[in-house]
Amino acid sequence: MTQACRECPVQFVCRGGCPKDRFVEAPDGEPGHNYLCAGYRRFFTHAVPTMERMAQLGCRFRPIATLMGELREEEDSIEAPWRSAGRNDACPCGSGRKYTRCCLGFHRPR
Ligand code: SF4
Repeated sequence: MTQACRECPVQFVCRGGCPKDRFVEAPDGEPGHNYLCAGYRRFFTHAVPTMERMAQLGCRFRPIATLMGELREEEDSIEAPWRSAGRNDACPCGSGRKYTRCCLGFHRPR
């Protein structure tokens, strides 16, 4: 494991990734860094807050499934541009295509 991994904020879940993927140089030039580091860092940075909430629920002996309802309520409270877009409006992603032909299928209906 490289020094960059030892100082990484998500090291406690990533642990440097699989040893077979440690064949590139770390940002400081140290050899043996994980080839998939950027993806691991992005994924774990996104997932760790939710993982911590799951752990808190488990500690209080509450079903983990209740977290999905909480996350859905939080997501619904966020003002997102696609919520107000009509099917035939320009897609909020900026592609220039109709919303129905672009990102509509990726967003959960309300
Ligand atoms: S995310 Fe990258 S720097 Fe952090 S522990 Fe994993 S491989 Fe190492």
